[in-house]
Amino acid sequence: MISLQLQDVPFEQDVRELFMAFFPGQSFSHVPEQDAMISCIMEPHAEASAAPRLGSYRSELRTNEGRVLRFESAWMEERIESKNELKRALYRALTELTGKALPWGTLTGIRPAKLALTRLQEGKSADEVRAEFKRDFFLSDARNDLCVRTAENELRAIRGLDFSTGYSLYIGIPFCPTTCLYCSFPSYPIGSKKSTAYLAALKEEIRLVAELMAEKRLDAIYVGGGTPTSLSAAELEDLLGFVRGLFNLSALREFTVEAGRPDSISREKLIVLKEQGADRISINPQTLKQETLDLIGRFHTVDQFTESFRLARELGFDNINTDLIMGLPNESEADVRRTMEGIRALSPDDVTIHSLALKRAARLNTKREDYADVSYGDANRMVELASSYCEEMGLSPYYLYRQKNMAGNLENVGWCKKGKEGLYNILIMEELETIVGCGAGTTTRVMRGAGQYDRLENVKDPGLYVERLKEMLAKKERALGGDVLR
Ligand code: SF4
Repeated sequence: MISLQLQDVPFEQDVRELFMAFFPGQSFSHVPEQDAMISCIMEPHAEASAAPRLGSYRSELRTNEGRVLRFESAWMEERIESKNELKRALYRALTELTGKALPWGTLTGIRPAKLALTRLQEGKSADEVRAEFKRDFFLSDARNDLCVRTAENELRAIRGLDFSTGYSLYIGIPFCPTTCLYCSFPSYPIGSKKSTAYLAALKEEIRLVAELMAEKRLDAIYVGGGTPTSLSAAELEDLLGFVRGLFNLSALREFTVEAGRPDSISREKLIVLKEQGADRISINPQTLKQETLDLIGRFHTVDQFTESFRLARELGFDNINTDLIMGLPNESEADVRRTMEGIRALSPDDVTIHSLALKRAARLNTKREDYADVSYGDANRMVELASSYCEEMGLSPYYLYRQKNMAGNLENVGWCKKGKEGLYNILIMEELETIVGCGAGTTTRVMRGAGQYDRLENVKDPGLYVERLKEMLAKKERALGGDVLR
């Protein structure tokens, strides 16, 4: 346990996140604790110094082994400066205490590339951004390079898009063939009558959005889940045909359907996707080790994945993404190497390398006792290995994000061939334009000006979504009609 006693120091969340990155899995308390592994006491001291400096934050770290470290950081008028100063001072102290350096330094947010992208958009050079990140956030050279390269590729991919006049559409299909062990997403087994009622409600919502956004330019469509291809070919045809009939697609730059689980894909469904205009699909193996697929409850085989992939190529899909996860239970570097060899042989256009994030709701977490004998390898080295394969395959990083509870405090990175950047992934990650979500569990983000947006969430459960559709449509009408949401 870590005891955090911050007295009038307003950066508790940032301090806590930095501690979590150094000491994953520790719990926190806000009062003095006898058995705390570390006690951290911070307080402000006002000084008669010239503005903009107001004084200093004085901090003390005490370990249960009797070590004491004291440090100070400037307390400035400008809140962000004070916060960054404090994080740097704390980072140095924690590094001294543990001997550890973090790959992302003091950056704890989920969108590091957004910081780099903003600076590039302001006209800074890549070298200037790298120098600033190293100086101010202590990024490792590898993460610094990854972050700035990603932002450079993002910038190229979004060039020419006017975010004030465009928007993207997300359609959520919250059904899956079965629930994977590491998944915290509220997905529901397909095959129930629920999907018919759900699709009818979904179409009502899509129709309303088409009316409300008729004057706007539609840049990207993303059909995700869940697993959209857990719908039947007829249901997919009906849904996608409905979308095509309602929206003006003349300026559409991307139409992604997440096929996802190979066990949900068939020739018939791929033909439907092709005929209905999908030009980017995902086929996700996560790993090419069969024992892991069995263990994590993805009931498909490695062969099903390669067959689906080849079939999609044969049918003319020239932008295929494959998702992989590093740090899965019982996987070694040798397993990752074998997976990457198999992936390289297929030459996908886009590979997303995820680091396993053990979310609270995932069965791998909630039923921990059932999986007590699984072991976890060094996720950091596996990510490095997978990334080096991506480089070798001629792919470049084009979007990245971090999540809480991620193995090794790492990140998820999308790598792609030149010109195959998934536009929707960039738009959502960097919060650049309005994204309208339709379906259970989806989020709508209406941009209201630089970095400002209103957020609107649909209920997660498909049954409740059907029941409460009217209420959600009314809210959507207000939000997309220009009302500021409160
Ligand atoms: S396919 Fe994806 S959304 Fe569905 S259960 Fe597995 S991880 Fe979750």
